[in-house]
Amino acid sequence: MNAAVKHPIAAKPDHNVVIIGAGFSGLCMAIKLLEAGRTSFVILEKAGDIGGSWRDNHYPGCACDVPSHLYSFSFEPNPFWSRAYAPQGEIWSYMRHCAAKYGVRPHCRFGEGIAHAEFDEATAMWRVTTTTGNTLTTRILVSGVGALCLPAYPSLKGLDTFKGEAFHSAEWNHDYDLEGKTVAVIGTGASAIQFVPHLQKRVKQLHLFQRTPPWVLPKLDRPMKKWEKTLFNTLPFVHRLYRDFLYWRMESAALGFTVNPKIMKRIERLARKYLAHVIPDPVLRKKLTPDYTIGCKRILISNDYYPALTQPNVEVVTDGIVEVREHSIVTRDGKERPIDAIVYGTGFKATDPLSEIRITGRAGLEINEAWAKAGGPEAYYGLAAPGFPNLFMLLGPNTGLGHNSIIFMIEAQVRYVMQALKLMDEKKLATFEVKSDVHDAFNAKLQQDIKQTVWNSGCKSWYIAETGKNPTVWPGFTVSYWAKTRRLEPGDFDGATALAPLAAE
Ligand code: NAP
Repeated sequence: MNAAVKHPIAAKPDHNVVIIGAGFSGLCMAIKLLEAGRTSFVILEKAGDIGGSWRDNHYPGCACDVPSHLYSFSFEPNPFWSRAYAPQGEIWSYMRHCAAKYGVRPHCRFGEGIAHAEFDEATAMWRVTTTTGNTLTTRILVSGVGALCLPAYPSLKGLDTFKGEAFHSAEWNHDYDLEGKTVAVIGTGASAIQFVPHLQKRVKQLHLFQRTPPWVLPKLDRPMKKWEKTLFNTLPFVHRLYRDFLYWRMESAALGFTVNPKIMKRIERLARKYLAHVIPDPVLRKKLTPDYTIGCKRILISNDYYPALTQPNVEVVTDGIVEVREHSIVTRDGKERPIDAIVYGTGFKATDPLSEIRITGRAGLEINEAWAKAGGPEAYYGLAAPGFPNLFMLLGPNTGLGHNSIIFMIEAQVRYVMQALKLMDEKKLATFEVKSDVHDAFNAKLQQDIKQTVWNSGCKSWYIAETGKNPTVWPGFTVSYWAKTRRLEPGDFDGATALAPLAAE
């Protein structure tokens, strides 16, 4: 820690901490601030409620693909999950329960996102301009926007000329009656495989436009039994053991993902067997058989996706789309299919999560511009970037996962930020900024390590930016991330001592 530089604090900020977004990570940050008695914070949330992705994604069939007893805060276990993999509504309710129980809501400003944040070197404060034009100042800025917040739309010729209904899976239009319609679904990722079986039952005809087939495994989903709920509720340590079992079961998959992709061949054989079992038609089976190593794209789990594709009202279209017309879609083979509605299951701008926010650090350095120069987002353990003092990112660059619960990562990151705040108070630091050389060495090694992983084994996925850099995935075990971030190393940061007292609450 280099705290030799003295820094004048000209004015007291409006808040000690401003959190961007009230999804799982913003919520966790707020809860831990409150637990530590730090009440001077606000969450700026552009939508009207807490919940993040679990508020926005309410398409039919939306559910978690990580077991719910693990996909929840360790400090707020829920023994009453209805299913092994809870549906969206239940997860959203859980989040609202957490917000209410820990008193987070009074700190939320709904309907007000962040448009611009600028670090003011003179006062060592962030000046935040919200999407409604308000301005406020804060000592610490914490981004809780995550990676899956901005829907991605395909750029297809003629798309804006389409006269029918069209919406993204993350912006589902429940008012539109799909009954009896001819519907095009573009995309076959984690979202599409959940809503396609529901659409299939309602629509007259479903054309599923698949660019790359996903690997699909059966989902070990089931309703939780009454006795299990009672057991978990009355004996919390049994619930804890069950959570630990789920954690280590999922964590073991990291061996194949990150250490030796050849291990994935065994899982691939299982997936092929499942495909052969559910899809007897060799033509359809061929269309649905991926040609890349399993795990390179997210492995999908579903029991009803493949069966839905065998139904007579479903066509899997593998010829690329060349043009969208007023009431139809034309594919490369020249075929024109009349369409009433398009549903985009085309995912999110995961490699560009802050592209709609301008965050300007020291000397006018804007974070998206800095990342563009670096070939894609990068940060120190996803949390901090040089040139951006007093900024922490939750679920920042290279902290996404393909094999375990992201809530585990969020809790590790929030613990780290809380340590940083404590250290800043103890040392009376006005600024706290990761050292460039520490950050650069970390990222050079990370990008080296990631080359060995299954995510960089040759497929095209949202994990990889157009530049070829992988700015999304943590290339290791989550337990190693936990171990490495468990104790903040003060020597990794520069800090400037404040000359005036700091607001510590
Ligand atoms: P995704 O996995 O990125 O899938 C997008 C799909 O759209 C892919 O099949 C992609 O094809 C296709 N696509 C994109 N642009 C296209 C174009 N121009 N033309 C044709 N096809 C196009 O998105 P997602 O399904 O929304 O899932 C995103 C992430 O959200 C997941 O990986 C997961 O992390 C998360 N998620 C989680 C859950 C959960 O249960 N926890 C549920 C849903 C989503 P290519 O493969 O060829 O690119």
